[in-house]
Amino acid sequence: MRVRPSASFAIRLQSVFRLSGAGALLAALLQLAPAPLLADEGEWPPEQLAAIPKDRWAELKGRGIALSAKDLWDGQGGGLMTAVVDLGGCTASFVSPEGLLVTNHHCAFGAIQLASTPEKNYLADGFVAKGRADEVEARGGASRVSVLTATEDVTVRVRGPESAFARARTDLARYEAVERTRKEIVAECEKEEGVRCVVSPFWDGSEYRLMRRIELRDVRLVYAPPRGVGDFGGEEDNFRWPRHTGDFTFLRAYVSPQGKPAPFAKENVPYRPKSWIRVSPDGVKDGDAVMIGGYPGRTLRHLSASAVESWESWQFPLRSRTNADLIAILDAEGKKDPAVALKVASQIKSLGNGETNARGQIEGLRRNGVLERTRKEDAAMGAFLLTHLELPITVRTSPAALEAVLAVQRQGRDRAYFLGLIERGSGYLGSAISALIRADERKKPDLERDAGYQDRDLDRAKQREKDLTRSLVPGVARKALAYMVEKTMAASTAEGEPIRAFVETFGAESRAAEIEEKLAAFDAVTLLADEKNRLQGLEAASEPLRASDDPYRKLAAALKPDFDAIRRKEKEIGGALLVVRPRWLRARRAFEAGQGKPLYPDANGTLRLSFASVKGYSPREAVTYTPRTTLAGVLEKERGKEPFAVPAKVLEKARAGDFGRWAPAGQSVPVGFLTDGDTTGGNSGSPTLNGKGELVGLNFDRVWENVAGDFGWNADRSRNVNVDIRYALWMAEKVDGAEALLTELLGAR
Ligand code: ASP
Repeated sequence: MRVRPSASFAIRLQSVFRLSGAGALLAALLQLAPAPLLADEGEWPPEQLAAIPKDRWAELKGRGIALSAKDLWDGQGGGLMTAVVDLGGCTASFVSPEGLLVTNHHCAFGAIQLASTPEKNYLADGFVAKGRADEVEARGGASRVSVLTATEDVTVRVRGPESAFARARTDLARYEAVERTRKEIVAECEKEEGVRCVVSPFWDGSEYRLMRRIELRDVRLVYAPPRGVGDFGGEEDNFRWPRHTGDFTFLRAYVSPQGKPAPFAKENVPYRPKSWIRVSPDGVKDGDAVMIGGYPGRTLRHLSASAVESWESWQFPLRSRTNADLIAILDAEGKKDPAVALKVASQIKSLGNGETNARGQIEGLRRNGVLERTRKEDAAMGAFLLTHLELPITVRTSPAALEAVLAVQRQGRDRAYFLGLIERGSGYLGSAISALIRADERKKPDLERDAGYQDRDLDRAKQREKDLTRSLVPGVARKALAYMVEKTMAASTAEGEPIRAFVETFGAESRAAEIEEKLAAFDAVTLLADEKNRLQGLEAASEPLRASDDPYRKLAAALKPDFDAIRRKEKEIGGALLVVRPRWLRARRAFEAGQGKPLYPDANGTLRLSFASVKGYSPREAVTYTPRTTLAGVLEKERGKEPFAVPAKVLEKARAGDFGRWAPAGQSVPVGFLTDGDTTGGNSGSPTLNGKGELVGLNFDRVWENVAGDFGWNADRSRNVNVDIRYALWMAEKVDGAEALLTELLGAR
């Protein structure tokens, strides 16, 4: 299918408004569009770049941004931003015409782990492919990359006056209508081989855009530094500055000899991207303007006070506690056996990241007084709406309507949280639940199945089971599951709705130790330990799965009504929010008009560009941080012990001052730098480009004072952390002798 090139953003918004009552919010945004703020706030969708006001572009040009909106995104599948790709929850970018990709070490961490054995431990020692033939298959999250080729506004079809959504009469029906239309659009888009599409909601479902992407399924590891570089500082330094982590890894995408996306196969050839980014060895100076392109996952910039409160006093504390408990379980087991430690490394790392992030969010929300500020805004907006009778009644009453939905959403939330963990959990029970949901969903026509359970998703589910074989340690998974079951039982009992399946299987008020004992008996007989059976389960019908004697399949079947009830409630709430959130946003925008806030949608996992400058900051009174770090700081932090154990080969070169061409005269090798970009999780691996569009670094983190930046960008504290690409080049040349890589990146010199 040929995707229409997008007209100017403004024109499209207006046409959306004329055609669909649902686009009213967007029209309101246009009419009320305030004077732009010349600040680096904003995660701009590529097709919106052309609509950024001229004076803002002039200001960017004055700061050294030499590219135009069209150079970045031409709407026809070209432009530098098409070199920025989605790496399953992270970002990567093409840096050579031969499909070479660069991303963060932490984004490839799972792939490096899955390729490692205790004897060939690439996590500990790093991985260097001397030639193409040495490159190894990347599994897990880094095993697929998606290249965006076009976007199209499909709002009218999803929720315009003629849509199924407009005709639906209940919240559930509204949700299902939107989902069904999204899937229809995706199915049409995916008729072309190798294309993977997604319809993404913007402004909480006020607007929908189709993203047409080429999905490359053969990704290989090319060069990863040892963990002592790539993860230097570990969780202790995570979300901190000053930072000295060499958070980079190189991958390569391959396609079939015919140039088509294909699964891993020896005869595949490197993919030739339409655009790729040149690496600059010249670095950045303080104050330099840069651009950061990437796939930010989620920001929460437009919430009412009760929603902020829910994040601050429920969601983040719960996540912090749960992750900390799970880390303690995995850590203790890992300490007993290095082979176990290797298998659980990636899980610990991602739990640790989530835990630190949750604490940072809570601290930031408190320190910045976000809840108090939002309460005041809600009150002022309420007063504003009372007197603005020109606004539709549905908009004026939207705050109360929104609160009513949120109150229902909060009921039973602990139980739903823990059941969700179990469902997504990596273990035999998670596997059995996933197989049963898949079997039940398969009874419906493909387009009516829940997202994630269509035929197009089977391949990924199979991959997950195969990856599980490489990372699962039954004794450890059992301990983690016992913990989660205990928590789920306690939460559901406290909420007055005990889970029968658990009570009957484990006994009321069971503690983790007793549950674990029963699970050990399950593990002794389960057939799910065999990958073949788990894979078969993914394609089995409901009846045999339900009739199975396997204890995990039995438990999954007994739990299924609970999962069904949760899913149904989520759909109903989702349908209600699809109506009320756009109205509320319209009210908020009317209230904020003239306050000079830039208009960009919350992050939603789609491609964005952020403009920024290299800049330090002051985290607190009397403390100022300069924005750049070097190898000298790595040596200062080195303790010979994780997470500050610098590998011997790196120490030797660093101590000898063997910096080659990578350090400015008289200085050490640059390692990290700060910029004031508008980034969040998902931006990990994002290329940081200089004004000419050349790669000077990779975004990999934010500072502690900016973890709660998800709730709002702030000129004084919004800082993202980048690794200087010269650190990677120095490592490749001086430490690892990765000559072929250097030549590919910089040409023969
Ligand atoms: N290091 C972060 C992450 O992957 C990126 C960020 O949050 O800015 O979650």
